[in-house]
Amino acid sequence: MNAAHKQADVIIIGAGIIGSSIAYHMSKKGISCLVLERGAAAQEATAASAGMLGAMMETDAPGPLVELAVASQARYRKLAETLFEDSGVDIEYTECGTVGVARDEAEKAALLQKCSFARDFGQRVDWIETGRLLELEPGLSPDLLGGVHIPGDHQVQSPKVALAFRTAAIRLGARFLEHTPVLRLLTEGRRVAGVETTDGSFYADHVVLAGGSWSPGLLTGLGIDLPVYPVKGQCYSAILPEGLKHTVFALKCYLMPKRDGTILVGATQEEAGFDKSPTAQGIAYLHEIAASMVPAMKKAVFVRTWTGLRPGNPQLKPFLGPVEGREGLLLATGHFRKGTLLAPITGEMLTSMVTGEALPLDPSPFTLRGHGLQ
Ligand SMILES: Cc1cc2nc3c(=O)[nH]c(=O)nc-3n(C[C@H](O)[C@H](O)[C@H](O)COP(=O)(O)OP(=O)(O)OC[C@H]3O[C@@H](n4cnc5c(N)ncnc54)[C@H](O)[C@@H]3O)c2cc1C
Repeated sequence: MNAAHKQADVIIIGAGIIGSSIAYHMSKKGISCLVLERGAAAQEATAASAGMLGAMMETDAPGPLVELAVASQARYRKLAETLFEDSGVDIEYTECGTVGVARDEAEKAALLQKCSFARDFGQRVDWIETGRLLELEPGLSPDLLGGVHIPGDHQVQSPKVALAFRTAAIRLGARFLEHTPVLRLLTEGRRVAGVETTDGSFYADHVVLAGGSWSPGLLTGLGIDLPVYPVKGQCYSAILPEGLKHTVFALKCYLMPKRDGTILVGATQEEAGFDKSPTAQGIAYLHEIAASMVPAMKKAVFVRTWTGLRPGNPQLKPFLGPVEGREGLLLATGHFRKGTLLAPITGEMLTSMVTGEALPLDPSPFTLRGHGLQ
């Protein structure tokens, strides 16, 4: 690369929660960042996220992904304070805990499995019978077969986390160019040296791809077939006068009490390409499960519905880090159902990869090779 053309140490493609977290963590270390966003910042999956920090509820077997999730979740309490100091944005970190409920024997077995591996990760997941479950969360149906209490699974407001990362990063010197789609990656030999956008070309020492569901399109020119694809999630919100104390979670649906007084009900999981239309069928499906857990939901007042595209992949774990044979390129995509949860650790890991400092966790399970692809 011609050093005279370098516009930043790092170019980040995508200003969702992942790209914004990376920009924040890197800026804190004095790395100059240029974030390029196709549309407006934090309008895609990040805007749709329920904001659940479900390290236990959202994992079902021990392994590196649980470690990553637990490490990221553990950072949120302190991060909420630091981000408020650095940006003035309250990310609505709320320690509400989660109640996972069993509506049938299969759901009960899945929850009991969580109880058995949680302790290995320093987490508490306690099985509780229906009577005690109803004391904990009085709105639950007495027909449930019991459930688990997860006192450590909390929540935030995902778009506010992205806004806080972005605001703080800009204060620290990062540049965000919105409405600037990246058209292709620019290479010099095997090295990725920059990007071409609708607004000219930009060069940097590193290019981080954090384009969510749209990430693979930029890699085809390099002959890389990244298996990341959109998985549509529909949600709705409603007002339930009785409210809820905890997030209530079953295998295919969850209810979450938000700070604005609404109950968020999410989320469908549909492979429907890039179509983001809400459907009556999707909302009816969620509503039926929601009411089977919390019967008063039948009379809740409907507020709104929305959808988003999670960056899914076959192994349900993110792609993090360098690509062998493509110096300069780093991946930070494919966070599927856990991008809000994993944003802090992703920002930290990618920053250490650039500075050469010790990484908080082994990244190898999240490389292309770790996904069985290189
Ligand atoms: C309904 C729903 C509920 C969810 N609930 C939770 C939850 O409770 N907890 C949780 O942890 N996660 C949840 N998730 C998942 C979470 O939202 C995602 O994993 C996360 O937002 C992914 O962030 P991202 O920055 O990678 O992607 P995105 O937010 O999609 O951002 C990617 C950005 O890249 C930009 N981009 C793409 N291509 C280009 C290009 N060529 N040039 C420039 N810019 C480009 C896009 O415009 C976009 O802004 C949920 C998702 C959905 C849809």
